[in-house]
Amino acid sequence: MKIAQLTAHEILDQYAAQQLKVVDVVGSVLEQISQSEKDIHAYAQVFSGDKLPAFNGKNIPIPIAIKDNICIKDTETTCCSKILKNFIAPYDATVIGKLKQSGAIFVGHANMDEFAFGSSTETSCYGPTRNPWDLSRVPGGSSGGSAAAVAGNEAIWALGSDTGGSIRQPAAYCGVVGLKPTYGRVSRFGLIAFASSLDQIGPITKDVTDSALLMNIISGYDPKDSTSANVPNPDYTKALVKNVKGLKIGLPKEYFIEGLDAEVKTKVMDAVLLLKSCGAEFKEISLPHSKFAIACYYIVATAEASSNLGRFDGVQYGLRAQPSQVRKTNLVDMYEETRDQGFGNEAKRRIMLGTYSLSSGYYDAYYLKGLKVRTMIKMDFDRAFEEVDAIITPTAPTTAFKLGEKMNDPISMYLNDIFTTPANLSGIPAISIPCGFSKNRLPIGLQIMAKPFAEETLFRIGYTYEQNR
Ligand code: GLN
Repeated sequence: MKIAQLTAHEILDQYAAQQLKVVDVVGSVLEQISQSEKDIHAYAQVFSGDKLPAFNGKNIPIPIAIKDNICIKDTETTCCSKILKNFIAPYDATVIGKLKQSGAIFVGHANMDEFAFGSSTETSCYGPTRNPWDLSRVPGGSSGGSAAAVAGNEAIWALGSDTGGSIRQPAAYCGVVGLKPTYGRVSRFGLIAFASSLDQIGPITKDVTDSALLMNIISGYDPKDSTSANVPNPDYTKALVKNVKGLKIGLPKEYFIEGLDAEVKTKVMDAVLLLKSCGAEFKEISLPHSKFAIACYYIVATAEASSNLGRFDGVQYGLRAQPSQVRKTNLVDMYEETRDQGFGNEAKRRIMLGTYSLSSGYYDAYYLKGLKVRTMIKMDFDRAFEEVDAIITPTAPTTAFKLGEKMNDPISMYLNDIFTTPANLSGIPAISIPCGFSKNRLPIGLQIMAKPFAEETLFRIGYTYEQNR
């Protein structure tokens, strides 16, 4: 077995036993990159190596891939958009500062859908990432580069961001673990905003233990993010217990519906049976407003995106159209030409949708209505969590689809987010855990959701499942 195939906790054990050196771990990851990056293309940019820290018993020198929308000081951070080409981050995101303190080794900026708009990592200005399990298929998105890097052993662990499923769905498609923490649990300072009321940074790892370890590093209150929650920050590894006795888990009847792939359903139900045999109690619940989640999400998220993307105008960041390319030489023409050149089709589509639903004539009918529906979706979860400790669903309705399959059909791309968007709209934590393979050897993901700030419940259930499979 290659070193790059190990989990972070296995590597840390071997560091402690003096069986492994940091330079060997980094060497193995870089070797894997040189072998498979031409096929997988998980990275927008691989960093050239700095001086490596030595293991000192306290630090955590693990090679990590960072999604290209998280600022690392003095590196090009582009959201995989032409409009941010040559933008050098002037500061570190809070999570990056925490990782630096822990001794992390940054392998590179991982590929992603432009501005995190998408479910396939095909809209990156650097070209698509491919699924390590089947190169003809997408890795999911928008954190497809992060998930493919971990699945392909091109990083030991990774950070992604999740606005409507962008950590969990690629984790499911690539057979790795992805956690979207509770809104406010992990600082968004230095994450280039897509939809500020939905975005969360989270870990993509090979197993549940690594997810808890990485959460220990990145989570916690941050005064630099006004939406950060000032709540106690637990040691997540304490939740890694092999015991779900007495836990009540809900199965929402609206999530096991027509359109759900039969193999996905079977594997998720197998996991339910296994957890039942470990002592969890299951009951059917109802989340009646989740059927509006996609419509609601694509109103709220595009509205916030159109507002957040207003700042990219050629003046402060990245690309600026040259005077020779601008018809007249007034300022508005320069803005327009820059935005026309800099944004790809999906970004333009979202800016137009969002601007429309925020415009004065349509605000009440779309955006305000969207906010009301969002509250109803959240109230369904509040009600459910009076009866159950956690909720289990599939992460995505199918396994990884083929490259190009949905590129000309935005609606069918959007429908892929059917099971993941409700957790973002409600602010609750949700994790995707591998639960087996389809007949054609494609990974399937199981989603577990819990109450706000109950990440420990997710780890407990996930760990019990993982250890008993
Ligand atoms: N696929 C969803 C979208 O396209 C989610 C993206 C995300 O979570 N960043 O908006």
